[in-house]
Amino acid sequence: MTEPTVPATNDFIRETIRRDNEAGTFGQRVQTRFPPEPNGYLHIGHAKAIVQDFGVAEDFGGVCNLRLDDTNPGAEEAEYVGSIVDDIAWLGYTPASIVHASDYFEQLYAWAEYLVEQGKAYVDDQDGETISAQRGGFGKPGVNSPFRDRTPQENLDLLRRMRAGEFPDGSKALRAKIDMAHENMWLRDPVMYRIRHLTHHNTGDTWCIYPTYDWAHGQSDAIEGVTHSICTLEFEGHRPLYDWFLEQLPLPSDQPKQLEFARLELTHTITSKRRLRKLITDGVVDGWDDPRMPTLRGLRRRGYPARALRDFCTAIGTTRTNSRKAIEELESYVRRELNKTAQRRMVVLRPVKLVITNWPTDADGNPVVEYFELTNNPENPADGVREAAFSGELFIEADDFAEVPPPKFFRLSPGREVRLRGAYFVTATDAVKDEAGNVVQINATYDPATRGGDAPDGRRVKSTMHWVSAAHAVDANVALYDRLFTTEVPGRETGEPLDDLNPASRELLTGCKAEQAIAGTEPGEVVQFERLGYFALDPDEPMLFHRTVGLRDEWAAAQKRKG
Ligand code: ATP
Ligand code: MG
Repeated sequence: MTEPTVPATNDFIRETIRRDNEAGTFGQRVQTRFPPEPNGYLHIGHAKAIVQDFGVAEDFGGVCNLRLDDTNPGAEEAEYVGSIVDDIAWLGYTPASIVHASDYFEQLYAWAEYLVEQGKAYVDDQDGETISAQRGGFGKPGVNSPFRDRTPQENLDLLRRMRAGEFPDGSKALRAKIDMAHENMWLRDPVMYRIRHLTHHNTGDTWCIYPTYDWAHGQSDAIEGVTHSICTLEFEGHRPLYDWFLEQLPLPSDQPKQLEFARLELTHTITSKRRLRKLITDGVVDGWDDPRMPTLRGLRRRGYPARALRDFCTAIGTTRTNSRKAIEELESYVRRELNKTAQRRMVVLRPVKLVITNWPTDADGNPVVEYFELTNNPENPADGVREAAFSGELFIEADDFAEVPPPKFFRLSPGREVRLRGAYFVTATDAVKDEAGNVVQINATYDPATRGGDAPDGRRVKSTMHWVSAAHAVDANVALYDRLFTTEVPGRETGEPLDDLNPASRELLTGCKAEQAIAGTEPGEVVQFERLGYFALDPDEPMLFHRTVGLRDEWAAAQKRKG
Protein backbone atom coordinates (compact mmCIF):
# COMPACT_ATOMS: atom_id res chain seq x y z
CA MET A 1 0.00 0.00 0.00
CA THR A 2 1.35 3.43 -0.87
CA GLU A 3 1.30 5.56 2.22
CA PRO A 4 0.70 9.27 1.85
CA THR A 5 3.74 11.25 2.82
CA VAL A 6 3.85 14.72 4.30
CA PRO A 7 6.42 16.77 2.40
CA ALA A 8 8.71 19.20 4.19
CA THR A 9 6.74 22.39 4.14
CA ASN A 10 7.55 24.99 1.59
CA ASP A 11 5.20 27.30 -0.25
CA PHE A 12 5.08 30.75 -1.80
CA ILE A 13 4.13 32.32 1.54
CA ARG A 14 7.19 30.88 3.25
CA GLU A 15 9.28 31.97 0.26
CA THR A 16 8.00 35.53 0.66
CA ILE A 17 8.82 35.53 4.35
CA ARG A 18 12.28 34.16 3.66
CA ARG A 19 12.89 37.01 1.19
CA ASP A 20 11.52 39.56 3.69
CA ASN A 21 13.90 38.21 6.32
CA GLU A 22 16.84 38.40 3.91
CA ALA A 23 15.92 41.98 3.03
CA GLY A 24 15.32 42.82 6.68
CA THR A 25 11.83 44.14 5.85
CA PHE A 26 10.40 43.43 9.28
CA GLY A 27 13.69 43.17 11.17
CA GLN A 28 13.46 39.33 11.00
CA ARG A 29 10.18 39.46 12.89
CA VAL A 30 7.37 37.13 11.80
CA GLN A 31 3.90 37.55 13.21
CA THR A 32 0.65 36.14 11.83
CA ARG A 33 -2.92 35.87 13.03
CA PHE A 34 -5.90 33.61 12.50
CA PRO A 35 -8.94 35.89 12.23
CA PRO A 36 -12.27 34.02 12.26
CA GLU A 37 -15.55 35.82 12.54
CA PRO A 38 -17.34 34.30 15.55
CA ASN A 39 -20.55 33.65 13.64
CA GLY A 40 -20.35 29.87 13.42
CA TYR A 41 -18.20 26.85 14.13
CA LEU A 42 -14.84 26.23 12.50
CA HIS A 43 -14.75 23.79 9.60
CA ILE A 44 -12.18 21.87 7.57
CA GLY A 45 -11.42 24.99 5.49
CA HIS A 46 -10.52 26.87 8.65
CA ALA A 47 -8.22 23.99 9.60
CA LYS A 48 -6.23 24.75 6.45
CA ALA A 49 -5.97 28.44 7.43
CA ILE A 50 -5.01 27.55 11.01
CA VAL A 51 -2.28 25.14 9.90
CA GLN A 52 -1.01 27.84 7.52
CA ASP A 53 -1.12 30.76 9.98
CA PHE A 54 0.24 28.94 13.03
CA GLY A 55 2.58 26.73 10.99
CA VAL A 56 4.30 29.70 9.36
CA ALA A 57 4.80 31.39 12.72
CA GLU A 58 6.22 28.18 14.20
CA ASP A 59 8.59 27.61 11.27
CA PHE A 60 10.09 31.10 11.55
CA GLY A 61 10.15 31.33 15.34
CA GLY A 62 7.39 33.93 15.27
CA VAL A 63 4.01 34.26 16.95
CA CYS A 64 0.42 33.81 15.83
CA ASN A 65 -2.56 35.39 17.58
CA LEU A 66 -6.12 34.27 17.50
CA ARG A 67 -8.06 37.38 16.56
CA LEU A 68 -11.82 37.20 16.78
CA ASP A 69 -12.96 39.37 13.93
CA ASP A 70 -16.02 40.64 15.74
CA THR A 71 -17.02 43.80 13.86
CA ASN A 72 -20.50 42.57 12.99
CA PRO A 73 -22.56 42.42 16.21
CA GLY A 74 -25.81 41.15 14.64
CA ALA A 75 -24.34 37.81 13.62
CA GLU A 76 -21.90 37.06 16.40
CA GLU A 77 -22.31 35.14 19.61
CA ALA A 78 -20.12 34.37 22.61
CA GLU A 79 -20.95 30.65 22.22
CA TYR A 80 -18.96 30.60 18.98
CA VAL A 81 -15.97 32.30 20.58
CA GLY A 82 -15.65 29.49 23.13
CA SER A 83 -15.88 26.81 20.45
CA ILE A 84 -13.26 28.51 18.27
CA VAL A 85 -10.77 28.70 21.14
CA ASP A 86 -11.43 25.08 22.01
CA ASP A 87 -11.18 23.80 18.41
CA ILE A 88 -7.82 25.50 17.85
CA ALA A 89 -6.46 23.90 21.01
CA TRP A 90 -7.78 20.52 19.86
CA LEU A 91 -6.01 20.94 16.51
CA GLY A 92 -2.81 21.33 18.50
CA TYR A 93 -2.06 25.06 18.38
CA THR A 94 -1.67 27.67 21.09
CA PRO A 95 -2.31 31.30 20.18
CA ALA A 96 0.29 33.71 21.52
CA SER A 97 -2.67 35.88 22.58
CA ILE A 98 -6.40 35.82 22.11
CA VAL A 99 -7.54 39.23 20.94
CA HIS A 100 -10.63 40.80 19.40
CA ALA A 101 -10.99 43.30 16.59
CA SER A 102 -13.34 45.00 19.06
CA ASP A 103 -10.38 45.55 21.43
CA TYR A 104 -9.23 48.13 18.86
CA PHE A 105 -12.50 50.03 18.40
CA GLU A 106 -11.18 53.06 20.28
CA GLN A 107 -7.97 53.23 18.21
CA LEU A 108 -9.87 52.64 14.97
CA TYR A 109 -12.20 55.47 15.85
CA ALA A 110 -9.30 57.80 16.67
CA TRP A 111 -7.78 56.99 13.26
CA ALA A 112 -11.13 57.64 11.59
CA GLU A 113 -11.18 61.14 13.10
CA TYR A 114 -7.61 61.54 11.90
CA LEU A 115 -8.61 60.69 8.31
CA VAL A 116 -11.57 63.07 8.55
CA GLU A 117 -9.25 65.86 9.72
CA GLN A 118 -6.93 65.08 6.79
CA GLY A 119 -9.87 65.43 4.39
CA LYS A 120 -9.65 61.70 3.54
CA ALA A 121 -13.02 60.62 4.91
CA TYR A 122 -16.53 62.05 4.93
CA VAL A 123 -19.97 61.43 6.35
CA ASP A 124 -22.52 60.42 3.73
CA ASP A 125 -26.24 60.84 4.49
CA GLN A 126 -27.32 58.41 1.78
CA ASP A 127 -28.53 54.94 2.62
CA GLY A 128 -26.59 51.78 1.84
CA GLU A 129 -28.61 50.97 -1.27
CA THR A 130 -27.98 54.37 -2.83
CA ILE A 131 -24.28 54.16 -2.01
CA SER A 132 -24.06 50.72 -3.68
CA ALA A 133 -25.99 51.89 -6.72
CA GLN A 134 -23.54 54.77 -7.19
CA ARG A 135 -20.46 52.53 -7.21
CA GLY A 136 -20.70 51.93 -10.95
CA GLY A 137 -19.27 48.77 -12.42
CA PHE A 138 -16.38 47.30 -14.32
CA GLY A 139 -15.36 49.90 -16.90
CA LYS A 140 -18.12 52.20 -15.66
CA PRO A 141 -17.07 54.88 -13.18
CA GLY A 142 -19.12 55.52 -10.06
CA VAL A 143 -20.94 58.70 -9.13
CA ASN A 144 -19.74 61.12 -6.47
CA SER A 145 -21.98 61.42 -3.44
CA PRO A 146 -23.60 64.86 -3.04
CA PHE A 147 -22.10 64.85 0.51
CA ARG A 148 -18.55 64.17 -0.67
CA ASP A 149 -17.35 67.76 -0.33
CA ARG A 150 -18.35 68.46 3.23
CA THR A 151 -15.64 70.28 5.18
CA PRO A 152 -13.49 68.39 7.67
CA GLN A 153 -15.14 70.41 10.50
CA GLU A 154 -18.62 69.42 9.42
CA ASN A 155 -17.59 65.77 8.97
CA LEU A 156 -15.92 65.67 12.37
CA ASP A 157 -19.02 67.05 14.05
CA LEU A 158 -21.25 64.52 12.26
CA LEU A 159 -18.94 61.59 13.00
CA ARG A 160 -18.91 62.49 16.70
CA ARG A 161 -22.68 62.71 16.70
CA MET A 162 -22.88 59.35 14.89
CA ARG A 163 -20.81 57.86 17.66
CA ALA A 164 -22.91 59.58 20.32
CA GLY A 165 -25.99 57.82 18.99
CA GLU A 166 -27.88 60.81 17.63
CA PHE A 167 -28.82 59.12 14.34
CA PRO A 168 -30.86 56.03 13.51
CA ASP A 169 -29.44 52.90 11.89
CA GLY A 170 -28.50 53.30 8.25
CA SER A 171 -29.11 57.03 8.15
CA LYS A 172 -25.44 57.94 7.77
CA ALA A 173 -22.12 56.26 7.00
CA LEU A 174 -18.49 57.30 7.16
CA ARG A 175 -16.72 56.76 3.85
CA ALA A 176 -13.10 57.01 2.77
CA LYS A 177 -12.56 59.72 0.16
CA ILE A 178 -10.51 58.00 -2.52
CA ASP A 179 -11.73 57.93 -6.13
CA MET A 180 -15.19 57.06 -7.45
CA ALA A 181 -13.66 56.28 -10.85
CA HIS A 182 -10.90 54.00 -9.56
CA GLU A 183 -10.48 50.86 -11.67
CA ASN A 184 -10.52 48.82 -8.47
CA MET A 185 -14.09 48.92 -7.16
CA TRP A 186 -12.97 48.53 -3.56
CA LEU A 187 -11.31 51.95 -3.76
CA ARG A 188 -14.50 53.78 -4.78
CA ASP A 189 -15.04 55.58 -1.48
CA PRO A 190 -15.56 52.45 0.63
CA VAL A 191 -17.71 52.59 3.75
CA MET A 192 -15.71 52.64 7.00
CA TYR A 193 -18.48 52.89 9.60
CA ARG A 194 -22.16 52.06 9.62
CA ILE A 195 -24.65 52.90 12.36
CA ARG A 196 -26.05 49.89 14.21
CA HIS A 197 -27.77 50.27 17.55
CA LEU A 198 -26.92 46.76 18.66
CA THR A 199 -25.40 45.18 21.76
CA HIS A 200 -21.99 43.67 21.04
CA HIS A 201 -20.91 40.43 22.76
CA ASN A 202 -17.62 42.03 23.84
CA THR A 203 -18.20 45.79 24.05
CA GLY A 204 -21.82 45.75 25.17
CA ASP A 205 -23.60 49.04 24.42
CA THR A 206 -20.45 51.18 24.24
CA TRP A 207 -20.75 51.55 20.48
CA CYS A 208 -23.54 52.17 18.01
CA ILE A 209 -21.21 52.59 15.03
CA TYR A 210 -19.27 49.58 13.83
CA PRO A 211 -16.28 49.40 11.45
CA THR A 212 -16.44 47.44 8.20
CA TYR A 213 -14.10 44.53 7.50
CA ASP A 214 -11.90 46.68 5.27
CA TRP A 215 -11.55 49.46 7.81
CA ALA A 216 -10.89 47.09 10.69
CA HIS A 217 -8.69 44.36 9.30
CA GLY A 218 -5.43 45.94 8.19
CA GLN A 219 -5.52 48.43 11.05
CA SER A 220 -5.95 45.59 13.57
CA ASP A 221 -2.99 43.84 11.94
CA ALA A 222 -0.88 46.98 12.35
CA ILE A 223 -1.93 47.59 15.97
CA GLU A 224 -1.01 44.02 16.87
CA GLY A 225 2.30 44.07 15.01
CA VAL A 226 1.35 41.47 12.40
CA THR A 227 3.95 41.24 9.66
CA HIS A 228 2.28 38.81 7.25
CA SER A 229 -1.50 38.87 7.08
CA ILE A 230 -2.44 35.61 5.40
CA CYS A 231 -5.93 35.29 3.98
CA THR A 232 -7.83 33.57 1.20
CA LEU A 233 -7.94 34.63 -2.44
CA GLU A 234 -11.29 36.39 -2.35
CA PHE A 235 -9.49 39.22 -0.53
CA GLU A 236 -6.97 39.76 -3.31
CA GLY A 237 -9.05 42.59 -4.74
CA HIS A 238 -9.16 44.25 -1.31
CA ARG A 239 -5.39 44.38 -1.03
CA PRO A 240 -4.95 47.86 -2.62
CA LEU A 241 -7.48 49.20 -0.12
CA TYR A 242 -5.75 47.34 2.73
CA ASP A 243 -2.54 49.13 1.70
CA TRP A 244 -4.24 52.50 1.07
CA PHE A 245 -5.65 52.76 4.60
CA LEU A 246 -2.33 51.77 6.16
CA GLU A 247 -0.41 54.27 4.04
CA GLN A 248 -2.58 57.15 5.31
CA LEU A 249 -2.06 56.41 9.02
CA PRO A 250 0.71 57.08 11.56
CA LEU A 251 1.33 53.38 12.24
CA PRO A 252 2.88 52.16 15.51
CA SER A 253 4.87 49.48 13.63
CA ASP A 254 5.92 48.34 10.17
CA GLN A 255 3.19 48.20 7.57
CA PRO A 256 1.91 44.60 7.41
CA LYS A 257 1.69 42.72 4.14
CA GLN A 258 -1.39 40.84 2.95
CA LEU A 259 -0.78 37.47 1.23
CA GLU A 260 -3.57 35.42 -0.29
CA PHE A 261 -3.87 31.67 -0.91
CA ALA A 262 -6.56 29.43 -2.41
CA ARG A 263 -9.36 28.20 -0.15
CA LEU A 264 -9.55 24.53 0.63
CA GLU A 265 -12.61 22.85 -0.79
CA LEU A 266 -13.31 19.10 -0.60
CA THR A 267 -15.37 16.85 -2.82
CA HIS A 268 -18.79 15.86 -1.44
CA THR A 269 -18.48 18.71 1.08
CA ILE A 270 -19.61 22.29 1.60
CA THR A 271 -17.93 24.87 3.82
CA SER A 272 -20.29 27.82 3.65
CA LYS A 273 -21.30 28.63 7.23
CA ARG A 274 -24.69 29.86 6.06
CA ARG A 275 -25.50 26.55 4.38
CA LEU A 276 -24.05 24.50 7.23
CA ARG A 277 -26.41 26.38 9.53
CA LYS A 278 -29.31 25.57 7.22
CA LEU A 279 -28.53 21.85 7.48
CA ILE A 280 -29.13 22.22 11.20
CA THR A 281 -32.27 24.37 11.04
CA ASP A 282 -33.74 22.03 8.40
CA GLY A 283 -33.06 19.05 10.68
CA VAL A 284 -30.86 17.30 8.12
CA VAL A 285 -28.18 16.84 10.78
CA ASP A 286 -28.37 16.89 14.58
CA GLY A 287 -26.17 19.94 15.17
CA TRP A 288 -22.79 21.55 14.56
CA ASP A 289 -21.09 18.47 16.00
CA ASP A 290 -23.02 15.91 13.99
CA PRO A 291 -20.40 13.41 12.73
CA ARG A 292 -21.45 14.13 9.14
CA MET A 293 -20.61 17.83 9.42
CA PRO A 294 -17.29 19.12 8.01
CA THR A 295 -16.94 21.20 11.17
CA LEU A 296 -13.99 20.49 13.43
CA ARG A 297 -16.56 19.51 16.08
CA GLY A 298 -18.20 17.06 13.72
CA LEU A 299 -14.96 15.55 12.45
CA ARG A 300 -13.74 15.20 16.01
CA ARG A 301 -16.90 13.37 17.12
CA ARG A 302 -16.57 11.22 14.02
CA GLY A 303 -13.10 10.17 15.25
CA TYR A 304 -10.81 12.14 12.93
CA PRO A 305 -7.48 12.60 14.75
CA ALA A 306 -6.22 16.20 14.87
CA ARG A 307 -2.87 14.92 13.65
CA ALA A 308 -4.47 13.56 10.46
CA LEU A 309 -6.05 16.95 9.74
CA ARG A 310 -2.74 18.74 10.26
CA ASP A 311 -0.86 16.27 8.06
CA PHE A 312 -3.46 16.54 5.31
CA CYS A 313 -3.47 20.35 5.37
CA THR A 314 0.32 20.38 5.18
CA ALA A 315 0.58 17.74 2.49
CA ILE A 316 -1.86 19.36 0.06
CA GLY A 317 0.30 22.46 0.06
CA THR A 318 -0.62 26.10 -0.39
CA THR A 319 -1.23 27.58 -3.79
CA ARG A 320 -2.96 30.46 -5.51
CA THR A 321 -5.07 28.20 -7.73
CA ASN A 322 -8.51 27.16 -6.56
CA SER A 323 -9.06 23.43 -6.68
CA ARG A 324 -11.13 20.84 -4.90
CA LYS A 325 -9.33 18.07 -3.04
CA ALA A 326 -10.70 14.54 -2.94
CA ILE A 327 -12.22 13.70 0.42
CA GLU A 328 -10.68 10.24 -0.06
CA GLU A 329 -7.27 11.88 0.32
CA LEU A 330 -8.22 13.30 3.71
CA GLU A 331 -9.63 9.92 4.72
CA SER A 332 -6.36 8.33 3.72
CA TYR A 333 -4.54 10.45 6.33
CA VAL A 334 -7.18 9.57 8.90
CA ARG A 335 -6.76 5.87 8.24
CA ARG A 336 -3.00 6.07 8.32
CA GLU A 337 -3.06 7.73 11.73
CA LEU A 338 -5.70 5.40 13.18
CA ASN A 339 -3.90 2.32 11.92
CA LYS A 340 -1.03 3.28 14.23
CA THR A 341 -3.13 4.16 17.26
CA ALA A 342 -6.41 2.21 17.26
CA GLN A 343 -6.84 -1.00 19.24
CA ARG A 344 -8.45 -3.89 17.35
CA ARG A 345 -11.75 -5.31 18.54
CA MET A 346 -14.26 -7.80 17.21
CA VAL A 347 -17.78 -6.44 16.83
CA VAL A 348 -20.64 -8.01 14.91
CA LEU A 349 -22.88 -5.36 13.37
CA ARG A 350 -25.75 -7.55 12.11
CA PRO A 351 -25.56 -10.63 14.29
CA VAL A 352 -26.80 -14.12 13.60
CA LYS A 353 -26.21 -17.01 15.99
CA LEU A 354 -23.70 -19.72 15.17
CA VAL A 355 -24.15 -22.87 17.28
CA ILE A 356 -21.30 -25.37 17.44
CA THR A 357 -23.08 -28.66 17.82
CA ASN A 358 -19.99 -30.67 18.85
CA TRP A 359 -18.81 -28.17 21.45
CA PRO A 360 -17.96 -29.85 24.79
CA THR A 361 -19.70 -29.34 28.12
CA ASP A 362 -18.06 -29.38 31.54
CA ALA A 363 -18.79 -31.70 34.51
CA ASP A 364 -21.92 -29.66 35.37
CA GLY A 365 -23.23 -29.86 31.82
CA ASN A 366 -22.43 -26.23 30.98
CA PRO A 367 -20.68 -25.36 27.73
CA VAL A 368 -16.93 -25.03 28.17
CA VAL A 369 -15.55 -21.46 27.91
CA GLU A 370 -12.12 -20.95 26.42
CA TYR A 371 -10.12 -17.71 26.33
CA PHE A 372 -8.03 -16.63 23.36
CA GLU A 373 -5.27 -14.09 23.54
CA LEU A 374 -5.60 -11.54 20.75
CA THR A 375 -3.17 -8.82 19.75
CA ASN A 376 -4.50 -5.32 20.46
CA ASN A 377 -2.63 -3.65 17.63
CA PRO A 378 -0.25 -5.51 15.32
CA GLU A 379 1.21 -2.10 14.36
CA ASN A 380 2.14 -1.39 17.95
CA PRO A 381 3.31 -4.34 20.07
CA ALA A 382 3.40 -2.08 23.16
CA ASP A 383 -0.41 -2.15 23.13
CA GLY A 384 -0.23 -5.78 24.27
CA VAL A 385 -3.00 -8.36 24.15
CA ARG A 386 -6.51 -8.92 25.44
CA GLU A 387 -8.51 -12.06 26.11
CA ALA A 388 -11.65 -12.96 24.25
CA ALA A 389 -14.05 -15.62 25.51
CA PHE A 390 -15.10 -18.39 23.10
CA SER A 391 -17.83 -20.94 23.59
CA GLY A 392 -20.40 -23.09 21.81
CA GLU A 393 -22.73 -20.21 20.93
CA LEU A 394 -21.34 -17.31 18.97
CA PHE A 395 -22.50 -14.34 16.95
CA ILE A 396 -21.21 -13.84 13.43
CA GLU A 397 -22.22 -11.35 10.72
CA ALA A 398 -25.42 -12.42 9.00
CA ASP A 399 -23.88 -11.62 5.62
CA ASP A 400 -20.90 -13.87 6.31
CA PHE A 401 -23.25 -16.79 5.68
CA ALA A 402 -25.05 -17.81 2.49
CA GLU A 403 -27.18 -20.89 2.31
CA VAL A 404 -26.58 -21.00 -1.43
CA PRO A 405 -23.26 -19.24 -2.02
CA PRO A 406 -23.16 -16.96 -5.07
CA PRO A 407 -20.03 -17.11 -7.30
CA LYS A 408 -16.88 -15.90 -5.51
CA PHE A 409 -18.53 -16.09 -2.09
CA PHE A 410 -15.87 -17.76 0.06
CA ARG A 411 -17.35 -17.24 3.48
CA LEU A 412 -19.56 -19.64 5.41
CA SER A 413 -22.09 -21.90 3.70
CA PRO A 414 -23.28 -25.47 4.36
CA GLY A 415 -20.35 -27.88 3.98
CA ARG A 416 -17.78 -25.04 3.78
CA GLU A 417 -15.00 -24.68 6.36
CA VAL A 418 -13.78 -21.22 7.49
CA ARG A 419 -11.56 -19.81 10.24
CA LEU A 420 -13.01 -18.01 13.23
CA ARG A 421 -10.24 -15.54 13.76
CA GLY A 422 -7.65 -16.66 16.31
CA ALA A 423 -9.89 -19.54 17.50
CA TYR A 424 -10.94 -22.58 15.44
CA PHE A 425 -11.94 -23.80 12.01
CA VAL A 426 -15.68 -24.42 11.77
CA THR A 427 -17.81 -26.08 9.09
CA ALA A 428 -21.45 -25.15 8.67
CA THR A 429 -23.94 -28.00 8.59
CA ASP A 430 -27.34 -26.38 8.20
CA ALA A 431 -29.36 -23.23 8.84
CA VAL A 432 -32.49 -22.76 10.96
CA LYS A 433 -35.02 -20.39 9.40
CA ASP A 434 -38.07 -18.53 10.65
CA GLU A 435 -41.45 -18.64 8.90
CA ALA A 436 -40.43 -15.79 6.61
CA GLY A 437 -37.41 -17.76 5.50
CA ASN A 438 -34.80 -15.66 7.32
CA VAL A 439 -31.80 -17.49 8.71
CA VAL A 440 -32.03 -17.23 12.52
CA GLN A 441 -29.37 -19.76 13.45
CA ILE A 442 -26.51 -21.54 11.76
CA ASN A 443 -25.37 -24.91 13.01
CA ALA A 444 -21.75 -25.91 12.61
CA THR A 445 -19.07 -28.27 13.88
CA TYR A 446 -15.58 -27.30 14.93
CA ASP A 447 -12.25 -29.09 14.61
CA PRO A 448 -10.52 -29.17 18.05
CA ALA A 449 -7.17 -29.70 16.32
CA THR A 450 -7.29 -26.20 14.82
CA ARG A 451 -7.10 -24.39 18.18
CA GLY A 452 -5.49 -20.99 17.72
CA GLY A 453 -6.72 -20.80 14.14
CA ASP A 454 -4.40 -23.11 12.20
CA ALA A 455 -4.73 -26.69 11.05
CA PRO A 456 -1.82 -28.98 11.98
CA ASP A 457 -2.26 -30.84 8.68
CA GLY A 458 -1.70 -27.58 6.83
CA ARG A 459 -5.14 -27.49 5.20
CA ARG A 460 -6.28 -24.04 4.17
CA VAL A 461 -9.53 -22.14 4.36
CA LYS A 462 -10.51 -19.29 2.07
CA SER A 463 -11.83 -16.95 4.67
CA THR A 464 -11.37 -15.70 8.21
CA MET A 465 -14.31 -14.22 10.07
CA HIS A 466 -14.79 -12.22 13.23
CA TRP A 467 -17.01 -13.57 16.01
CA VAL A 468 -18.24 -12.78 19.50
CA SER A 469 -19.19 -15.30 22.21
CA ALA A 470 -22.96 -14.99 22.72
CA ALA A 471 -22.79 -15.45 26.49
CA HIS A 472 -20.13 -12.74 26.84
CA ALA A 473 -21.29 -10.25 24.21
CA VAL A 474 -21.70 -6.58 25.07
CA ASP A 475 -24.50 -4.72 23.26
CA ALA A 476 -23.48 -1.72 21.19
CA ASN A 477 -25.13 0.75 18.82
CA VAL A 478 -23.39 1.82 15.67
CA ALA A 479 -23.87 4.71 13.26
CA LEU A 480 -22.69 4.06 9.72
CA TYR A 481 -22.16 7.07 7.49
CA ASP A 482 -22.21 7.72 3.79
CA ARG A 483 -21.35 11.00 2.02
CA LEU A 484 -23.58 13.87 3.12
CA PHE A 485 -23.71 15.02 -0.52
CA THR A 486 -24.05 12.56 -3.37
CA THR A 487 -22.13 14.66 -5.90
CA GLU A 488 -18.45 15.57 -5.88
CA VAL A 489 -19.27 19.24 -6.33
CA PRO A 490 -22.51 19.83 -4.44
CA GLY A 491 -24.77 22.17 -6.39
CA ARG A 492 -22.86 22.11 -9.66
CA GLU A 493 -26.02 21.27 -11.62
CA THR A 494 -28.59 23.46 -9.89
CA GLY A 495 -26.47 26.07 -8.15
CA GLU A 496 -27.89 24.97 -4.81
CA PRO A 497 -25.63 22.51 -2.96
CA LEU A 498 -28.45 21.40 -0.68
CA ASP A 499 -30.23 19.93 -3.73
CA ASP A 500 -27.57 17.21 -3.75
CA LEU A 501 -28.09 16.00 -0.19
CA ASN A 502 -27.83 12.26 0.30
CA PRO A 503 -31.10 11.18 1.96
CA ALA A 504 -29.38 8.09 3.36
CA SER A 505 -26.22 9.55 4.85
CA ARG A 506 -26.68 7.77 8.19
CA GLU A 507 -27.73 4.27 9.12
CA LEU A 508 -28.25 3.47 12.79
CA LEU A 509 -27.74 -0.11 13.90
CA THR A 510 -28.86 -1.29 17.33
CA GLY A 511 -28.20 -4.63 18.96
CA CYS A 512 -24.67 -4.97 17.62
CA LYS A 513 -22.61 -7.51 19.57
CA ALA A 514 -19.11 -6.66 20.78
CA GLU A 515 -16.41 -8.63 22.56
CA GLN A 516 -16.02 -7.84 26.27
CA ALA A 517 -12.88 -5.69 25.86
CA ILE A 518 -15.03 -3.03 24.19
CA ALA A 519 -16.21 -2.02 27.65
CA GLY A 520 -12.78 -0.45 28.29
CA THR A 521 -13.09 2.03 25.40
CA GLU A 522 -12.77 5.66 26.52
CA PRO A 523 -15.31 8.23 25.38
CA GLY A 524 -13.97 9.72 22.13
CA GLU A 525 -11.51 6.87 21.60
CA VAL A 526 -11.30 5.26 18.18
CA VAL A 527 -10.96 1.49 17.82
CA GLN A 528 -10.74 -0.69 14.76
CA PHE A 529 -13.61 -3.14 14.40
CA GLU A 530 -11.86 -5.93 12.58
CA ARG A 531 -12.85 -6.18 8.92
CA LEU A 532 -15.30 -3.24 9.29
CA GLY A 533 -13.39 -0.02 9.77
CA TYR A 534 -12.51 2.49 12.46
CA PHE A 535 -15.17 3.49 14.95
CA ALA A 536 -15.21 6.32 17.51
CA LEU A 537 -17.03 5.95 20.81
CA ASP A 538 -19.37 8.92 21.22
CA PRO A 539 -18.04 11.33 23.86
CA ASP A 540 -21.44 11.51 25.57
CA GLU A 541 -23.63 8.56 24.71
CA PRO A 542 -22.51 5.22 26.15
CA MET A 543 -21.88 2.41 23.65
CA LEU A 544 -22.69 4.48 20.57
CA PHE A 545 -19.95 4.09 17.97
CA HIS A 546 -19.57 6.28 14.88
CA ARG A 547 -17.86 4.81 11.87
CA THR A 548 -14.94 7.15 11.21
CA VAL A 549 -13.82 5.53 7.95
CA GLY A 550 -13.86 2.11 6.40
CA LEU A 551 -10.68 0.10 5.96
CA ARG A 552 -10.33 0.33 2.19
CA ASP A 553 -8.08 3.14 1.05
CA GLU A 554 -9.61 4.25 -2.26
CA TRP A 555 -7.21 7.14 -2.53
CA ALA A 556 -4.05 5.04 -2.18
CA ALA A 557 -5.50 2.53 -4.63
CA ALA A 558 -6.19 5.29 -7.15
CA GLN A 559 -2.66 6.70 -6.72
CA LYS A 560 -1.27 3.24 -7.40
CA ARG A 561 -3.36 2.86 -10.56
CA LYS A 562 -2.03 6.20 -11.76
CA GLY A 563 1.46 4.79 -11.15
P1 ATP B 1 -18.12 32.62 5.81
O1 ATP B 1 -18.05 33.54 4.64
O2 ATP B 1 -18.80 31.32 5.55
O3 ATP B 1 -18.55 33.28 7.08
P2 ATP B 1 -15.32 33.07 6.09
O4 ATP B 1 -14.42 32.56 5.06
O5 ATP B 1 -15.62 34.51 6.09
O6 ATP B 1 -16.61 32.17 6.07
P3 ATP B 1 -14.05 33.43 8.62
O7 ATP B 1 -14.46 32.82 9.90
O8 ATP B 1 -14.18 34.89 8.50
O9 ATP B 1 -14.84 32.62 7.51
O10 ATP B 1 -12.58 32.97 8.23
C1 ATP B 1 -11.48 32.97 9.08
C2 ATP B 1 -10.24 32.68 8.30
O11 ATP B 1 -10.32 31.37 7.76
C3 ATP B 1 -10.07 33.63 7.15
O12 ATP B 1 -8.71 34.00 7.07
C4 ATP B 1 -10.50 32.83 5.97
O13 ATP B 1 -9.86 33.26 4.81
C5 ATP B 1 -10.09 31.42 6.37
N1 ATP B 1 -10.91 30.42 5.70
C6 ATP B 1 -12.26 30.31 5.73
N2 ATP B 1 -12.67 29.32 4.93
C7 ATP B 1 -11.57 28.77 4.38
C8 ATP B 1 -11.32 27.69 3.45
N3 ATP B 1 -12.32 26.98 2.92
N4 ATP B 1 -10.05 27.41 3.12
C9 ATP B 1 -9.03 28.12 3.65
N5 ATP B 1 -9.18 29.13 4.52
C10 ATP B 1 -10.44 29.46 4.88
MG1 MG C 1 -15.73 36.25 7.06
